[in-house]
Amino acid sequence: MKFSWRMLLLWAVPLLLIGALLLPSFMNTQQTPGPTTNTVANSTKQYSEFVADIQAGRVEEVSIAENGRVAYAKIREPNLADRATNFRINLIPLDWENLNKLLYDRKVNVQVQANNNNGQIFTLLSNILLPLLLLGGLFLLLRRSNGGGPGQAMNFGKSKARFQMDAKTGIKFDDVAGIDEAKEELQEVVQFLKKPERFTAVGAKIPKGVLLVGPPGTGKTLLAKAIAGEAGVPFFSISGSEFVEMFVGVGASRVRDLFKKAKENAPCIIFIDEIDAVGRQRGAGIGGGNDEREQTLNQLLVEMDGFEGNSGIIIIAATNRPDVLDAALLRPGRFDRQITVDRPDRAGRLEVLKVHARGKKLDPSIDLEQIARRTPGFSGADLANLLNEAAILAARRRLDYITLKEIDDAVDRVVAGLERSPLLDGKKKRLIAYHEVGHALVGTLTQDHDDVQKVTIIPRGRAGGLTWFTPSEDQLLISRNELTARITGALGGRAAEEVVFGGDEITTGASGDFQQVTSMARAMVTRFGMSNLGPVSLESEGGEVFLGGAMMRSQGYSEEVAFHIDEQVRQIVNQCYADAINLLTEHRDLMDTIVDRLIEEETIDGEDLRKMVAEATKLPNKIKLALPLATKTPA
Ligand code: ADP
Ligand code: ZN
Repeated sequence: MKFSWRMLLLWAVPLLLIGALLLPSFMNTQQTPGPTTNTVANSTKQYSEFVADIQAGRVEEVSIAENGRVAYAKIREPNLADRATNFRINLIPLDWENLNKLLYDRKVNVQVQANNNNGQIFTLLSNILLPLLLLGGLFLLLRRSNGGGPGQAMNFGKSKARFQMDAKTGIKFDDVAGIDEAKEELQEVVQFLKKPERFTAVGAKIPKGVLLVGPPGTGKTLLAKAIAGEAGVPFFSISGSEFVEMFVGVGASRVRDLFKKAKENAPCIIFIDEIDAVGRQRGAGIGGGNDEREQTLNQLLVEMDGFEGNSGIIIIAATNRPDVLDAALLRPGRFDRQITVDRPDRAGRLEVLKVHARGKKLDPSIDLEQIARRTPGFSGADLANLLNEAAILAARRRLDYITLKEIDDAVDRVVAGLERSPLLDGKKKRLIAYHEVGHALVGTLTQDHDDVQKVTIIPRGRAGGLTWFTPSEDQLLISRNELTARITGALGGRAAEEVVFGGDEITTGASGDFQQVTSMARAMVTRFGMSNLGPVSLESEGGEVFLGGAMMRSQGYSEEVAFHIDEQVRQIVNQCYADAINLLTEHRDLMDTIVDRLIEEETIDGEDLRKMVAEATKLPNKIKLALPLATKTPA
């Protein structure tokens, strides 16, 4: 059984939110007119940091420029006391779809900068002028390179040194927490750098490249810096996206420059972030390969082969898509060591929290353990951000210490977005209350469902109301009953709407629930072997990263099987929905009581809810749902 961070992400984090009643996006678009983000930036950021910032809700607005190749973003920078700062980020066009979705999900205000705004005359002029200029430039370049010796024409790649050098990173292994296995494996690399003789004396070949594999924000950059810090060697870093330039050959020349500089400063660490931006399989994608990327990749391979392992340069690269990397990169003598850097488990999260609590004044009664328990699926960066948000809240509330309240608020904020002001009383508020209580009540009544932590009708992010669940543990194994209970609970919102207001009055608010329900039910059928189709794996986890790959890969099963998959998914969902309707119809009075109280108090604690349910039902209050496995064998 292989369970990875993706599993956690799939099941744990959305679970917290399973009850979110989404308001339709047209109701609360936060677009403000007119460009506010300047296209001036004080500093640059790497793409992965940018993505982490968006996920952490630090990005205030984004302005896309240069045909989607560059973004200027206003980001609240934790290192700068959360001051909003303008950054320039080189985007990865191939990842555009993901970014777009993320920006949309996080409701970041996005503007697209027109490349020119001087009207059509300018366009026309530039249409004529540009080719002329290009031709002229080419002519000049050719003449210069003829006269001034070979290679001169390509020097424009060199003038823009895009890599950063850090003579002393100042980061130690102590600063990295919760990813002990990765840390242990990398301890050895420090020894390679410090005492290469010890290894070469016995004929050992020192590895040249280490590939760190893991989702953004798990501390890959931090680890690489820690190695440099521990070994006391300089740290060179560049992002894969910065290799990929408009002009063919620029990327390759940057690679050459980088390695030249590194050799002059050996021993040292070269860190290549997002190596997948250059290292994707050659010849993949629509419309053939990208010449520039291939040249850059080839140059990288040449450089890696061109030095001996004991020359004291160790290359560390980071990616979260090792599957798309060109096989040549992973051959022995290149990135032949792969180290997985996963999101931390509960114990790991506790360690990370301890590291980041160091410089902060926490109320001594705060139990970090409890926070670790509340944050399954959080990466190291999420946790760092969480404590920082809490510190800001404490400062805003003029407290001397950060208390549990600030931390709780910060968790809510990181997971579900900013709190908005409550709705005025009215039909809509009632409907939201019924929807949320539907989730909470089904969740409380059914066995195998995670406990309700609280239910609230204070809107937050895109959600009009939320039901929070406490996931029991870091869940590595989830039973069929638990999945069924979750699906039923997630359908509880819509079920309540239908039971109370009737089929004509149901709303769009359940769309988010349905997405989760469908992906859970589909996974039950296609990945976990929990349906009539039997114990087979029909799909693998995770989506395709780039369009070309998705289009080229065939489904791996026939139309007929696809039909049965759909049928099974629908069967599971319908059965669960019927269960939810029955449960809520049966407990209609109880539901009304809870809704009245929720409308009055706006938030009900899980404990109180359980008490209300226990008093009303007077039974050992859990009901076991049964999803019959052999409902109907596909014909
Ligand atoms: P990645 O390179 O994997 O995207 P980073 O190393 O850039 O992630 O992490 C961003 C920040 O998050 C770090 O600077 C650090 O403050 C925090 N962080 C992430 N992982 C850890 C960890 N394992 N231990 C401590 N801090 C972490
Ligand atoms: Zn819902």
